[in-house]
Amino acid sequence: KFSFNYTFFLKLKMQKITTDINLAINSLKIGKLVAIPTETVYGLAGDALNEKAVKKIFILKKRPLHNPLILHISSYEKLREITKNVPFKAKKLAKKFWPGPLTLVLEKKNKVSNTVSAGKSTIAVRVPNHPLTLKLLNSIDFPLAAPSANPSGFISPTTAKHVSSFFKDGLDVILNGGLCSKGLESTIIGFENDNPILYRHGAIPISDLENCVGTIGKKIKDNLNPSSPGMFSRHYSPRTPIILINNLSKYIYQNKDKKIGVLSFENKEGFSLATKHEILSKNGDIDEAAKNFYSALHSLDSKNLDIIITTLLPEKGLGKTINDRLKRAVAN
Ligand code: AMP
Ligand code: MG
Repeated sequence: KFSFNYTFFLKLKMQKITTDINLAINSLKIGKLVAIPTETVYGLAGDALNEKAVKKIFILKKRPLHNPLILHISSYEKLREITKNVPFKAKKLAKKFWPGPLTLVLEKKNKVSNTVSAGKSTIAVRVPNHPLTLKLLNSIDFPLAAPSANPSGFISPTTAKHVSSFFKDGLDVILNGGLCSKGLESTIIGFENDNPILYRHGAIPISDLENCVGTIGKKIKDNLNPSSPGMFSRHYSPRTPIILINNLSKYIYQNKDKKIGVLSFENKEGFSLATKHEILSKNGDIDEAAKNFYSALHSLDSKNLDIIITTLLPEKGLGKTINDRLKRAVAN
C-alpha cells in the first residue's frame, strides 16, 4: 500500500553537498543548475547550449542581463566548437595556461546564444583546473556556462558551504571540491586587432602572461586612490559596511565603542582591541593571502560586526588583483 513518507520527500527536496559527479551530470542534462568547484571560485553552472538553463543562471544570481557568462570547456581541443578566428596569441596563452585561471574573450560561433554573451559577438571561455570539474566536463557533451555562485555583487564563494549559504532554493546539487586553491577569479584577456588586452585582473599575475606573449594592453583604470568614488562599481561586497584605511590600529584605538572586524594582509601588532581579526597570510605570502581572501571576508561578514576595516596590499603580482577586489568591495 502506498504511504506518503514525508522524511523521504524532504530528503529528495533537500540540497545535496556531494562529491558524486553523477548527481551533477543528471541535473545538468535536464537543464537544472549545479554548483561546481574550480581553482578560482565556485561556479553556478548550467548547460551553455540550453537557453532555459542559461536564463535560470541570470535569474538565480539576479545578474543583470548585460553581464555575459564564462563558458567552461574540458580542453583546448573543444575551443573550435564554440569560437572562431582565434588569434595566434590566444592559442599561445591557452596552450600555456589551460587548464588554469585564464579566461579568453573570443569571437563566438552561432551555436552559442546571445543570452550567454549578453548580446556580444564574443564569448569568454576557459578550461578550469579542478579534478572533479574536469571529470564532469569530460562526461558531458556541452560546455558549461558558469559565473561565480553568489548573488550578483556579493562576496564570491570559495567553499561549498559559502554556496549553500547563498542559495537555499533553486540549486539541488553542490559539488564539493574543498577550498578553491587559487581563491580569486580568473584573469580575463580579450583581443583587439589580434592584440591581447587585459579586461580583468585575476588569479594569474599579468606579468606571467606577458612573459608568454609580450606586452598586454590595459583597459582597466588602475586608480590607486580609493577615495575617488565611482571609479570602481560595487562588487564582491560583504553585507557589513567595509572601509579601506591606511592606519588600522589607529582606527581601532579611536573607535573602541564599535564592534570592529579587521582584515589584514600580514600579522601585525595593534589589533588586540578589535572584535575579530582575520590575517590573510601570517608570513605575508601573496598566494596564501589570495587563497584565504574571500573566505576571510565571508567569516567576518557572519560575525554581526559594526564595520570591517582593511587596507590595500602591496601593488604587485596578485596584490593588484586583491586590491582591485577590495576597491570594488568598498565602492558605493
Ligand atoms: P564571473 O564569472 O561572475 O566572474 O563573471 C564573468 C566575467 O567575464 C564578467 O566580468 C564579465 O563581464 C566577463 N565577460 C564575459 N564575457 C565577456 C565578453 N564577451 N567580453 C568581455 N567580458 C566578458
Ligand atoms: Mg562574479
